[in-house]
Amino acid sequence: QAKEEGRGTYRFYTPSLTRVANERLALEARLHRALADGELQLHYQPQFATHDKRLIGCEALVRWMSPEEGMVPPARFIPLAEETGLIVPLGSWVLRTACVQAKHWLDGAWPEVRIAVNLSGRQLLDPNLAERVAGILAETGLPPERLKLELTESMIMDHVEQTADLLRGLKSLGLRLSIDDFGTGYSSLAYLKRFPIDELKIDRSFVQDIPDDQDDMTIAATIIAMARNLRLKVIAEGVETQEQLDFLRRQGCHACQGYLLGRPMPAEEFARMVLGATNEITQA
Ligand code: C2E
Ligand code: MG
Ligand code: MG
Ligand code: MG
Repeated sequence: QAKEEGRGTYRFYTPSLTRVANERLALEARLHRALADGELQLHYQPQFATHDKRLIGCEALVRWMSPEEGMVPPARFIPLAEETGLIVPLGSWVLRTACVQAKHWLDGAWPEVRIAVNLSGRQLLDPNLAERVAGILAETGLPPERLKLELTESMIMDHVEQTADLLRGLKSLGLRLSIDDFGTGYSSLAYLKRFPIDELKIDRSFVQDIPDDQDDMTIAATIIAMARNLRLKVIAEGVETQEQLDFLRRQGCHACQGYLLGRPMPAEEFARMVLGATNEITQA
C-alpha cells in the first residue's frame, strides 16, 4: 500500500513509530508505578500427578491488575520489564510473594506445598542471583526444597558459561530447576547432562494438537522417554482435554498442568477450589 502511494509516504510511518514509542514509554511508567502501588498479583495454577491426579504443586504466574486497562497479561509487560531492567525488582517481588504464600500454605492448608516460579533471562545475568534467592528463602522461611525455578533453554544457551556456574549455585541451595517450554528453544541436548536440571516441561505447542497431530504426539512421547531415561521428571503444560491427559498418562509423563485440571487463580480461590480449605484464611 505504501508503494502505491508513492514518494513521501514514509512520513506516514513517522507519527506511528512515535506513537508506538510513546505508548511504550507510557506503559513503562505505568509498570513502574504498578510495582510500587501493589497492582501486581500472583495467580497459582495447580499441577497434578498424571496417573492419580494427586496435587503435587503449583506454578506462580504474575498478573498486572491495571486500573486503566484491567488485567494485563504477562506477555505484554514481561518483555518490556526485561528490556528496561525493571524485571530485576519485579522478579524479586514475584519470588518473595510466591515464597511467602507457599510458606503460609506449608504451615496450614497444604503441608506438601511445592511452588514453581518463572525466571527471566535478565535475572540470570545477575551474578548475585543465588545470594538473592537464598536471602528470600531465609527471609520468608520457605525450605528450599519447596521451591522450583523455571528457566528456558534459550536463557541457558545464550550464556552457557555463566549459566553453568549460576545453576550450580542455585542447586546448591537445595531447590529444583525446571526447563520451561522445552523443545521450542534452540539448544543442544548436551546441556541436559552438563547442567543440574531436575525437570523438563513440555511446551504447550506440542500438547495442544494431541491427538490430531501425529508429529506432536511423537515429539511429546520422545521428550517423555528421554526425560525418563535421563532420570529427569517431566511435566506437560497446556493440557486442555481428557484425550491429551490419557495420552500423556500412557506415555508415562509424570505430571500435568492445564485448563482441564485447573486454571491459574488468585491465592484465596486456589485455597478454596484446590485445597478445599474453606474455614481458614489462606492468603498470606
Ligand atoms: P509459562 O511459564 O510457559 O506459563 C504457562 C502459560 O500458559 C501461562 O500463561 C498459563 O496461564 C498458560 N496456560 C496454562 N494452562 C493452559 C492451558 O491449558 N491452555 C492454554 N491455552 N494456556 C494455558 P500466562 O500466565 O499468560 O504467562 C505467559 C508467560 O509469561 C509464562 O509462560 C512465562 O514465560 C511468563 N511469566 C508469567 N509469570 C511470570 C513471572 O512471574 N516471571 C517471569 N519472568 N515470567 C513470567
Ligand atoms: Mg512457566
Ligand atoms: Mg511453560
Ligand atoms: Mg509455554
